[in-house]
Amino acid sequence: MGKPFEIVVLSGKGGTGKTSITAAFAALTEKTVFTDCDVDAADLQLVLSPEVYKSESFTSGAKASIEREKCTGCGLCMELCRFDAISVKKEEFIIDEYACEGCGLCAEACPEKAIGIEKFENNRIFFANCRFGPVIYGKLGIAEENSGRLVSQIRQYAKETADTINAEYIITDGPPGIGCPAISSVTGSDLVIAVTEPTLSGWHDLNRLIEMTGRFRTPVYVIINKYDLNEDMSYTIENRLKSEGIQILGKIPYDESMIYALIEGKTICEFMPDGLLTREFEKMWNNLISIVYEQESIA
Ligand code: SF4
Ligand code: SF4
Repeated sequence: MGKPFEIVVLSGKGGTGKTSITAAFAALTEKTVFTDCDVDAADLQLVLSPEVYKSESFTSGAKASIEREKCTGCGLCMELCRFDAISVKKEEFIIDEYACEGCGLCAEACPEKAIGIEKFENNRIFFANCRFGPVIYGKLGIAEENSGRLVSQIRQYAKETADTINAEYIITDGPPGIGCPAISSVTGSDLVIAVTEPTLSGWHDLNRLIEMTGRFRTPVYVIINKYDLNEDMSYTIENRLKSEGIQILGKIPYDESMIYALIEGKTICEFMPDGLLTREFEKMWNNLISIVYEQESIA
């Protein structure tokens, strides 16, 4: 295998079991780098328990700040700021760092050159090792919104790590939804696993996700989690996907063991090595490997 094959596990919304599913695959792979790109709430590490050996800050933008000694209080900056980030408190002009978008307009306009624009290093990227291989994950700073760039950087580091250890796969626990971070995690990846649940809202979320990934022409395979909670809906989802030419990678029954495994910080495959769920995940992983080889032989 040449470049590592990048698999991204996504869901139209949070709470569908995406992280447990990613972790289960982690237990079945070798020569794999793992990333958690759910930078708003990275929790893959709760199961993988990685040991961090390095972390670095990541600049996602800039913020303005006022030098009080130079400011004459003319108010021009407050007048110009479109984000209402500047206000007056106790006769001093102050900038709300969470509201400031770092556009630089106030600094340009200030007649006293009292405003500086500084890079804002509120995000962190962690480099770690877990029992299954290297893990790279990020943490978005409080009120930071530019998570797409953070996700791109995490993926870039994952590729570099994969090259270093000659990894065959990169498996990413992606962000929920279809926003900027989800788009960043799909761009240039090789395959998306979309996790859904058998509900009407799950079906709508899945559709939006499939539409988003379709823009990047990334092949999508669906896992229906807890399919037996509503078998009629699962059946409907399966049939609709089939008619659209989208394959089901697998269906997972509801099983409280998934929760108990999480509580113990284990993957389901470690928690119940001979259980039905582990066999389902093994089946799905073998299926995935066949898809990977098929995709690579076409490329
Ligand atoms: S534009 Fe400059 S001088 Fe005027 S209030 Fe703002 S920081 Fe102070
Ligand atoms: S940099 Fe832009 S957003 Fe921030 S305070 Fe200045 S004008 Fe407002």
